[in-house]
Amino acid sequence: MLVEFHGVRGSIPMPSSSTIKYGGNTSCYEVLTDNYQFIFDAGSGFQSVKLMEDRTVVIIFTHFHHDHIQGLPFNFNLFTHKGEIILCSSLVNKGVLKNMIQTYFSGGYFPVDIVTMLTHLKFLNFSTVCNTVKPEIDLQTIELSHPGGSMGYRVQTKDGVFVYLQDNEYVPEQLDGLCEFVSGADLVVWDGMFTEAELGAKKGWGHSSIEQGVQFYEDAGLSQMAICHHAPQRSDDQIDALAAELTNPNIIFGYEGFKREI
Ligand SMILES: [Zn+2]
Ligand SMILES: [Zn+2]
Repeated sequence: MLVEFHGVRGSIPMPSSSTIKYGGNTSCYEVLTDNYQFIFDAGSGFQSVKLMEDRTVVIIFTHFHHDHIQGLPFNFNLFTHKGEIILCSSLVNKGVLKNMIQTYFSGGYFPVDIVTMLTHLKFLNFSTVCNTVKPEIDLQTIELSHPGGSMGYRVQTKDGVFVYLQDNEYVPEQLDGLCEFVSGADLVVWDGMFTEAELGAKKGWGHSSIEQGVQFYEDAGLSQMAICHHAPQRSDDQIDALAAELTNPNIIFGYEGFKREI
C-alpha cells in the first residue's frame, strides 16, 4: 500500500511563509491499495487528493470537528467522479453521518447542498465497508479519547499495516488497548498537537503531546511513527527544533507530501 499525507495541521488551516515545510492544511491521509483508495478525514488537505477512477474511493472520518471535514466540497474531482464515492465513520451510523455532512454543507453554512446534488456520494455503515473490503483488507477501528468522540483506524493488507490515531487525548488507561491495536504496524500517525509543557493548560482539549508519542513508540515497540496534527501556530522552525530533540530517526514529524510505500 502507498500512504500519502495531504494535510497534517491541527484545528485550522495555516497558510503562511512559516508553515511551508510541514504544511498548513488540516487532516487528510491517503492509503492506496490494489483496489481501494482510502482517505482518512477530509480536512483542507483533501482538496489536493486526486480521486481515482480505477479504484473504489472510500472516505473515512475519525469525527466531525471542522478540521476533519472542511475540505470535502473543495476537491473538484468530487463533482466529476464517474463512480460511487463511499463515505463512512465508525463514530456514527450512515444516517447520522449523512445528516451531519448535509447539515454542514448546505443552508446557512454552505452555498450548495452537496448531498442532494452529488448522487454518487454513498453513505454506508462502517461495518458494511469492513465486510466489503475483505479479504483484501482488514479494516479495524478503536475508540479514542476526544470531546464528542473520535475513532482510530487500522488498515492491514498483505503488504503491511497502517494505523491512524487522531484526534486523541492520551490517558494511561489506553495503553494496553492501543498497544494491541498498533501491533505489527509499519506506520502509526500520532496526534502530537502539544508539547508536554503546553499540555497542562490544555487538559480536556482532546489532544496528546509529542513526548507521549515518543513514550508510546517505546512502549508499543513501533517501527515508525509520524507525529501530526501540529498546533496551528507552530512554525517550521519550531517543529525543526522539536525534531532536533528526537533521538530516534523512526519518529518523525509528519509533513504534507510525505509518502511511504508499505
Ligand atoms: Zn482535529
Ligand atoms: Zn477534533
